[in-house]
Amino acid sequence: MPIAMYPGSFDPVTRGHLDIIKRSSRMFDTLIVAVLNNSAKTPLFTVKEREEMLRECCKDIPNVKVMSFDGLTVNFAQQQHATVMVRGLRAVTDFENEIQLAHTNHALCPGIETVFLSTSLKWSYLSSTIVREAAHYNHDVSKFVTPNVEAALKEKIREGKV
Ligand code: ADP
Repeated sequence: MPIAMYPGSFDPVTRGHLDIIKRSSRMFDTLIVAVLNNSAKTPLFTVKEREEMLRECCKDIPNVKVMSFDGLTVNFAQQQHATVMVRGLRAVTDFENEIQLAHTNHALCPGIETVFLSTSLKWSYLSSTIVREAAHYNHDVSKFVTPNVEAALKEKIREGKV
């Protein structure tokens, strides 16, 4: 069974991401959740914080490994011997970007296939951006994220960073 990689920003990880992680971890021997260290974006959480939150959320799924990387996702996938890229599709609006990304990755690295999982309807509207915004305006985000992520968001609010 191939090694799969689920790359993303996870700033922070939401219940939508976790749904994709749980479902895809059942499809592969190993699932590497790869946190992108994107120098072009200023994230709310550092890569280390994002990794720690993901590790806590995934601690009961033994075949999930959380790692971080810089640069091109396909390069990191090759380094880790991953041959499948997992992505979540929420709505048609995701499709255009995602299909372009999948074609680009395949052109750069023909050995890597992208697999799309449709999101659970329950989380189809959810994004890390929505979570950050709701937290900023003091809404209860426990529906959207796990308690450890909620606590980390509260800490950022206390520091005035959200
Ligand atoms: P990126 O910055 O690469 O978009 P994200 O952390 O936002 O990273 O998302 C990573 C992947 O998870 C993408 O494939 C995205 O479509 C998917 N995703 C994001 N939110 C959800 C959700 N609510 N349900 C399912 N998949 C999602």
